[in-house]
Amino acid sequence: MVTLNELFQSAKASLSEIGIENAYFETKELFCKTFGKEPVYFDMSDYADEKNRKAFESLIKRRVKGEPLQYILGEWEFYSLPIKVGKGVLIPRQDTETLVDAAIELYKNNCGITVLDLCSGSGCIGLALEKNLAVKKIVLVENSKSAVDYLKENVTLNSSKAEIVKGSVLDNAVIDRLPQADLIVSNPPYLSSSDMENLQREVEFEPKDALFGGEDGLDFYREIAGLYINKLNSGGRVFFEIGIDQGVEVSRILTDAGYKNVRIIKDMCGADRVATGEVYDRA
Ligand code: GLN
Repeated sequence: MVTLNELFQSAKASLSEIGIENAYFETKELFCKTFGKEPVYFDMSDYADEKNRKAFESLIKRRVKGEPLQYILGEWEFYSLPIKVGKGVLIPRQDTETLVDAAIELYKNNCGITVLDLCSGSGCIGLALEKNLAVKKIVLVENSKSAVDYLKENVTLNSSKAEIVKGSVLDNAVIDRLPQADLIVSNPPYLSSSDMENLQREVEFEPKDALFGGEDGLDFYREIAGLYINKLNSGGRVFFEIGIDQGVEVSRILTDAGYKNVRIIKDMCGADRVATGEVYDRA
């Protein structure tokens, strides 16, 4: 028999040992997932019952093997919204809140806008925009079967009115089905071949098709910029999440495709994170 405290401390030590920085926080989250409440609500000198002990230890074992905490928890917060995640869908990152902030800042005074979220994944960007802007219509486009399953769950969980379109954002038949939009947002796969060779251990568990953007990582920007410029209403904008070293190239891609007012927006760490461009004066 072990006490809850002994169980907690030994789990935390296992996570620290493999170099997890915030071992206390992660242990607490996994404890909470198993026992239903945070340690503060328990007398930690009580003995753990065997069933819970085994369940907790098996979650810790998964984490020790490198599986991301978010997948083990099954849910993660993005822009204050609960987002279901697991194998087969990209985990929402805090970096991506930069894109949401920028789009909200520019569209907060607009009413009844139509939004397209391309390569939607878990749906985190589109759902955050729908919650914070006066959206009339929003369409979430995603190609991967497993990501679409999470997307459906997240639409329901967040009482969203978003429409889901399953298909490739590069497929003309898909594009034809989409409405004209005021705002297009996308966090497409943007890692290059060399980035893919140096993935963090946790990222190895995430779907490659949500990460790999072709040899130089820029395939989706080149394609989407051209294919979607006519989907934007006059005054409409595209917002792309970009990798920290892609600002110059993605700006050029947007400018060459005919977008105006192309800008790069930095994240909280001061790194290039979002590229945006506008369409106007369409006859
Ligand atoms: N930001 C992600 C990472 O570095 C990549 C996400 C993407 O390719 N869209 O793991």
